[in-house]
Parts: sequence; C-alpha cells; structure tokens
Amino acid sequence: MQLTGHNYVAGATSAEGAETFFSVDPRRKERAALPFHSATAAEVDRAVAAAGAAFDEIRHYSSAQIAAFLDEIAAQIEALGDELLDCADRETGLGLPRLTGERARTTGQFRAFANLLREGDYLRAIINSEAPGQPSIRQMQFPVGPVAIFAASNFPFAFAVAGGDTASALAAGCPVVVKAHPGHPATSEMFALALKAAVEAQGYPAGSFSMLQGAGIDVGQWLVAHEAIEAVGFTGSLRGGRAIYDAAARRPRPVPVYAEMGSVNPVVITPGALAARADDIAEGLVASVTMGTGQFCTNPGLVLLQAGEAAQSFIADVTEKMSAAPAGVLLNETIARGLEGAVGQTLRNPDISVLTGGDAIADSDYFCFSNTVMRTSAAAIRADDRLQIEHFGPVTLFVVCDDADDLRATVDALEGNLTSTVHAEADELEDIGDLLHQLREKAGRVIWNGFPTGVAVVGAMQHGGPYPATTAPGTTSVGMNAIYRFMRPIAFQNVPDALLPDALKDGNPLGILRQVDDVYTDGAI
Ligand code: NAP
Repeated sequence: MQLTGHNYVAGATSAEGAETFFSVDPRRKERAALPFHSATAAEVDRAVAAAGAAFDEIRHYSSAQIAAFLDEIAAQIEALGDELLDCADRETGLGLPRLTGERARTTGQFRAFANLLREGDYLRAIINSEAPGQPSIRQMQFPVGPVAIFAASNFPFAFAVAGGDTASALAAGCPVVVKAHPGHPATSEMFALALKAAVEAQGYPAGSFSMLQGAGIDVGQWLVAHEAIEAVGFTGSLRGGRAIYDAAARRPRPVPVYAEMGSVNPVVITPGALAARADDIAEGLVASVTMGTGQFCTNPGLVLLQAGEAAQSFIADVTEKMSAAPAGVLLNETIARGLEGAVGQTLRNPDISVLTGGDAIADSDYFCFSNTVMRTSAAAIRADDRLQIEHFGPVTLFVVCDDADDLRATVDALEGNLTSTVHAEADELEDIGDLLHQLREKAGRVIWNGFPTGVAVVGAMQHGGPYPATTAPGTTSVGMNAIYRFMRPIAFQNVPDALLPDALKDGNPLGILRQVDDVYTDGAI
C-alpha cells in the first residue's frame, strides 16, 4: 500500500505544513524514509469545520444507518490485511501475536457498538406522563457534536485512530477528528484510509472523519481550543491528559475531556495468600508486570504486603524471576526516556531500594529498560505522593507494611487508579471485607485473586477511576457504556407527539425498551 505521509482532512489528503517527522523501528532504532507532515492550524480548522458541517447531516441518521457504517469500518479494517500488522509491528515492536489479537478487539468494538445500536435501548428513553401538577416529560440521549480524539502510543489499534474512543464517538452519532500518535504514523495512515473508504462506501459526509498527524503539542492544543469541538477523548500520560483538560477548561466555552491517564494499579497480597500459593502469585505477577514490556495502563506497579519471612522470600522470588526475564522492546524513544526519568525520580527518594534493574540498557540495539523491582516502606509511600507515579514499563515497587493496620493506613493514602487487586484466601474473607471496600474507593475495577492486565470488552467492564487515573470517574473508555461520553440527555416537555423523536413517540415505532412511568416496557403508550 502506497502511503503519503499526509493528513486526511474530510476525505482529502493535505500536507500544508513544513514540519515533518518519521516513523522509527524501535527494534533497530531505525528511521523510515517517508516524512509525515504535522498538521497546520489551518488544517485543524478545516477538519473541525468539516466535522461541524457533517454533524448537521448525521445528527438525523437512524441508529440502523450508523450501525451499518460501524460494520463497514470493521470490514474496511480487515480489508487492510496483514500489511497492517506488519506495519504496526515495525513501528511499535509489539509483535504479531499481540497485534493480531488487538486487531480482532478493534474490529470487535465496532461490531459490538453496531449491535448495541440495532437493539436500540441505548437511547435510554424515559417517559413520565402528564399528571396533575406535572407536565409530560420525555428524555433520551443525543450525540454531542464534533469530538476530538487523541490516539495512544501503547495500543496502535485498540486505543488509536480507529480505537475505542473513535468507535464510541462514531456510534454516538458524532463526527470525529483524530490527533494521531506520532509513535506510529504509518499505521495511523492505514487506519485513516480504512475510515475514508467506509465514509465513502456508506455515503457519509466527508467531514465525519479526519485524521491529523503531529509531533509536538501544537496540533492537539489547536484542536482542543477549537470552538466547534464538543468533547475530547484522550489516552496517554498524566501530564498530557492534564494539559488537554486544562486547555479545554480555559476555553470561553469549556467542554468535557475524557482523559484516561496514569495508574499504578495497587495489588494487595495477604499473609494467607502468600502461605497458600506464593509461587503461583509470583509467576502471575511477573507475567503481568512484563506483559507488553509493561506498557499497559493496567500494569501492576505497586504491590503491598505485610512484613515477615514469607513476604521476604516472595519478594526475592519475584526479583529473581524479573531479572531472569529478557528485557522487552519499548515502543519508542519518548517512552524509554520517560521511563528512565520516572524511575530516576523515584530512586532519588532515600527510602527506595533497587532489588534488580533500575537503569536503561545503554548499549542495546533496541529501545529498552531493565526489568526493575524496587522496595520501600509503607511510611515512605505515605510521606511522599511522588512515589505513586506511573513507571510506564516493566517496573514494580513493593511496599512492605509493618502489619494489617499499617497496610490499611497506606491503602487510605493511595491515589485514584484504574484497578485495585486483592490476593486472599477463603478463610480470610471476614477480615478482608473492609480492606476490599477501602480499595474500591480508589479504583474503577476491583480484582479478586487475579491480575489487572487484560481488559474484557464487555458491557459490565469499567475502565476508569478517580483522578489521576482519569478526569471523569463517572465514565468508562472500554465497553458499551463508553458511548455515553459522547451523548447528552435532552428532555422534551409537553412537546406534541408528531414533533418528538421516534424513540419517544407514544406508539414506540422503534420497538425499544423504555422506562415509562417508572416501569420498563417495549410496548406503546
Ligand atoms: P502522551 O505524552 O500523553 O501523548 C499522548 C498524545 O497527547 C500525543 O498525541 C501527544 O502529542 C499529545 N499531547 C501530549 N501532551 C500534550 C499537550 N500538552 N498538549 C496537547 N497535546 C499533547 O503519551 P505517550 O506519548 O503515549 O506516552 C508518554 C507517557 O504516557 C508514557 O511514558 C506513559 O507514562 C504514559 N502513557 C499512559 C498510558 C495509559 O494508558 N495510562 C498509555 C500510554 C502512555 P505529541 O506526542 O505529538 O506531543
């Protein structure tokens, strides 16, 4: 496939900017030949204006029409064939098995949203009939308008140009302008071609999708500041997410930013669990910390346990396994430098000791960092919030607590996370209940006797959590509920039936499940 290195602005390629950057193979630290053009302010403006114009049309589309578009996107992604996998592997070093799975997840997300739309209940129609002293009020969900999406570096498919944020925004009925991640620009262009083909095949307006390339913060800042953008989806660093959140808040008319950012995903291991299955937990923990070279937002970065011989030998076992595991490939130089900086900052705390790793591998041919295990005390974590920063790579920090009370006090001091995990035994249930609920307050997903890496794309999934894990803990960026980030409820008071949307009409022509006078029914009124 011939790539251009250009931006895709409402169906047309565009390369007005003089600033270019290149795709880099992280396994060889080698730059590819094709220059990619960072978008200009004028291109950002054109993409958003076209999205606004497209919204005027697609806001009237039926759920069935949008569902057909989503299915078409999935088919167009598949039509890219294995060239897509090879291209992403060259740009990210993630490996073909992982990328093959991630492609299936990505197309699966589009098809799952298509099914949700066809079933129709997602419109959340609520009807309260007129009663003495109360008007007729009917509510349902509507798309918010043009959405800006920031692609992540660590999921070149599932959280990128055609990732979950894009899928949920398009499913909601919103046009999308994506800021591609500069870590995988060729992969991004392939996805842009698939989206463009789907737009054309389904007769969607060209402005429904645009993709802007950019290395540097300008493109993202222009995009978020644009007055026609109604919401923002972001996955990446705390620094980046917070900057975008602040930029959106500074606008004369602020808009919501759904940023999914750093997380250390605390894992608590009880004395009972250590006594019963220390080997298995050590094996699982090492696999989870090193999976994808640790470049997951759900990586278990903080492990809390109570002091004692069992803890001591468990930590030694994990340390040995981590130092024996090969150092994996990191996505790019920025990630490698970021990791070095984050571990370096943590090591400046005198209460941290390195058990293995802790440094970059200077003479390596590929971007990497040594598998790292660090150890500290509960008191040290409580005394310094900076020890809770994300080390985005194959790194974990043991926090050794004096006793159960020390552990509870430390859990209390934890910041918001995407997940929290407990390893415990059946005979500890009585003691562990309070701790579990304490951990619940710190995360969007609580895991029992498992590991946080690996996210199921299903209705009940919650991929979110209190700040700094996200800027919007009431929402999720994975699963079907992700669509509601890009919809808003509108209520109609005493509006005649003929003027109501079909979902709210007396006859229920869509045949969807509705809440009518507090009772769920798919019947007519
Ligand atoms: P990032 O630096 O946050 O960048 C993500 C996207 O946001 C990029 O397109 C970037 O543009 C843009 N951006 C960053 N700062 C911005 C700003 N101030 N204004 C406007 N746009 C901005 O994330 P990354 O490059 O993927 O990885 C860096 C670090 O993020 C990692 O080391 C890791 O700590 C963290 N990370 C976390 C997760 C997670 O799921 N929690 C996922 C990936 C990464 P440019 O690159 O063009 O500047």
